[in-house]
Amino acid sequence: MDIKNNIKKIQDYLSGKPARLVAVSKTKPADLIKAAYDEGIRVFGENKAQELSEKHEILPKDIEWHMIGHLQRNKVKYIAPFVSLIHSVDSIRLLQEIDKQARKNDRIIDCLLQVHIAEEDTKFGFSKEELKEMLASLEFGAFENIRIVGLMGMATFTDNQDQVRREFKSLKIIFDQLAQQSTYENVSMNELSMGMSGDYKIAIEEGSTLVRVGSAIFGERNYA
Ligand SMILES: *Cc1c(COP(=O)(O)O)cnc(C)c1O
Repeated sequence: MDIKNNIKKIQDYLSGKPARLVAVSKTKPADLIKAAYDEGIRVFGENKAQELSEKHEILPKDIEWHMIGHLQRNKVKYIAPFVSLIHSVDSIRLLQEIDKQARKNDRIIDCLLQVHIAEEDTKFGFSKEELKEMLASLEFGAFENIRIVGLMGMATFTDNQDQVRREFKSLKIIFDQLAQQSTYENVSMNELSMGMSGDYKIAIEEGSTLVRVGSAIFGERNYA
């Protein structure tokens, strides 16, 4: 597997487009991450808090670490001191814990709200109605150490490209609606995280600003 060439192909595609690459390094060892770092990658995504924190310890300190996977509340403390962006906020209780841990660390943590867009019902995330209700709640208004900077979504795992495109379009519509409602505190719709190895080109066509690409860079993952 040729990490250098894989990165070059993706960077060439992204060149001139308003989307940034998050290299998804979950399950991959530090030496492969360092190889990607040496090709200029500075943003990495992981889906487990402890793995993320261990890699942060040993890898260069100018890396921007993004949490992209489902996050349990009792794991927030491992990443709160340094995490750059949490893509996968899917409940107000999780947000409450992030706010608390951010305050302990005397920082503000940027978050994306994960929206359920897939027709299959295995993915985490808010519905559009839940999202609006949550953002308008008093509880949400009281958070001082988090900032919502956008939305994240995952399309259905399918070869049906029309369906994937439709799901990305539905997220972009919600994103644009929220962007026009400036009444919420601590909310600015700047980042739209959608697209993975199999669908990042469609995602960019539909307005993604952050693509989360793993296997197209590092090869297939081995979970054994
Ligand atoms: C693993 C993962 C990715 C990357 O998937 P690839 O298909 O390997 O690019 C993107 N987003 C999330 C949330 C993931 O868990």
